[in-house]
Amino acid sequence: MQAFLRRWSHIRSHNTSFSFSRSFAATNLRMASSTATALYALTVSASPSSQGPEDASKKAHHCKNGFDNPWDSWNAPFNKHGQVLWRFVSGKANRPDTTPPTVPVQKPDFLPSRETSTLRATWLGHACYYVEFPGGLRVLFDPVFEDRCSPLSWIGPKRYTEPPCEIKDIPTIDAVVISHNHYDHLSLPTVKDIHKRHPNCHFFVPLGNKTWFINSGILNVTELDWWDERDILLSPSQSASRVEDTAGDASSKPADIKARIGCLPCQHFSARTPFDRCKTLWASWYVESGGRKVYFAGDTGYRTVPELPDGVDDHAPEYNFPSCPAFKQVGEFRGPFDLGLIPIGAYDPRFFMSAIHSDPHDAVEIFQDTKCKKALGMHWGTWVLTEEDVLEPPKKLKEALKKHEIPETGVFDVCDIGESREY
Ligand SMILES: [Zn+2]
Repeated sequence: MQAFLRRWSHIRSHNTSFSFSRSFAATNLRMASSTATALYALTVSASPSSQGPEDASKKAHHCKNGFDNPWDSWNAPFNKHGQVLWRFVSGKANRPDTTPPTVPVQKPDFLPSRETSTLRATWLGHACYYVEFPGGLRVLFDPVFEDRCSPLSWIGPKRYTEPPCEIKDIPTIDAVVISHNHYDHLSLPTVKDIHKRHPNCHFFVPLGNKTWFINSGILNVTELDWWDERDILLSPSQSASRVEDTAGDASSKPADIKARIGCLPCQHFSARTPFDRCKTLWASWYVESGGRKVYFAGDTGYRTVPELPDGVDDHAPEYNFPSCPAFKQVGEFRGPFDLGLIPIGAYDPRFFMSAIHSDPHDAVEIFQDTKCKKALGMHWGTWVLTEEDVLEPPKKLKEALKKHEIPETGVFDVCDIGESREY
């Protein structure tokens, strides 16, 4: 029952207001600070429209009261709660053992300055990655630093692995990218703390989430629809020049940092209360800066699998459940990507979770469809949201890679919590 409540809390929300308004050509000129010597002004502007799929302009994901997944691969699991509850009542549900040791946690090492030549990703647990781009851009994806992913601090899924660091340990955050408003991806205390420590950090959110940020006192926010893009310019501010001048070396003035960010589809839903399901959009994202491109798949399903007898592999050749076509479009129109951050956990039971959460086999297909050259797994190792054993996702990932004739290490890996990988 407790686990059922945990799962139920995952699909609740507290977003009381909603707006379809879009931040077309939103431009924010602000002063940004970093632990590096320079101060930067950050500008967000409309990017020259790049090509998207033909069907994108139809906005098939917009519906009367919010948003929908407009594909055959989607079959909403919302009427299956009774079956899930029965699994718990009847004792059929697996209760994952979280007794340590589970996933190793290490204290992350962040780079001391923006002057870096490689792409570097650090897993901060669940769906949170901190990405250091060559050239200096620093982006945090889906940060949640609380113990519980829940609207309440005393109930809801509790971490079984420690956060590897605190927000105050992250030296520079230029942008925060949010996939959707579920509590394991969007936390009010976390975003408020980031805003307090980095008042000029800019938040990028899917359509309909801007009002929640404004109501939370965060005005540096841009909301985008699937296939929308924005250009980001971080330029050393006048104050920064003065800082450099006083250092007596004009030639050391830091260069502009340029980036492009794009909002992209994925198969999921949103909710922060029992009353606002699908009122705000969910998304995957890409960020390109310093010549490197990262795809953040957010929270997503890939296909919908019906209830099958125990032990049956729904990826077996005799089954051919439709897969979400959006990922091939992402690969075709925005790929290839140097690194994909792709969810591999929270997938059991499949008849309930497959529509909204990919399992490792789905994740490998997403990896291939989106044309990622390398990938790291996420959305596991932190909170028990579903029935699979907590160390099963990386094992299944290796099986899936083998099945797709991809080397089991060095292509689509998992890392320890707090570990950084360079690309
Ligand atoms: Zn979610």
